[in-house]
Amino acid sequence: MSNKYSDFVFSLSDTDFELLQSAVSLRKNHERYGVTDFEELAIKYGRIPSCPECGNNDYVSFGSSQQGKIRFRCNVCGKHFNLISNTIFHYANKSFDTWCTYLVLMSFNVPLEMCEGIIKGYF
Ligand SMILES: [Zn+2]
Repeated sequence: MSNKYSDFVFSLSDTDFELLQSAVSLRKNHERYGVTDFEELAIKYGRIPSCPECGNNDYVSFGSSQQGKIRFRCNVCGKHFNLISNTIFHYANKSFDTWCTYLVLMSFNVPLEMCEGIIKGYF
């Protein structure tokens, strides 16, 4: 059976192939979860932002970051933060797609070493 996209995919550079894979992941996550990143997820579930410095919920909207993320400024201490600040996702430095894959694998009790191998594409 022929796939009309095979020649196109094989013609892509490594960089373009990674961009295509990223776009496909975004679409899959949007179809599965209705969101494509942690900020959208926080908005979907109504997360109330809190200051990571003093924990206060007294804040004002403060525009967007260079990555387009909604920012806030604490009215008590002046710290700037976003919806993901003060969560494990903020410091984990893993993509939304990676987290989703880990969580699905862990829900089936897949050993961590195998989870890592799957995430890194070894299998
Ligand atoms: Zn604060």
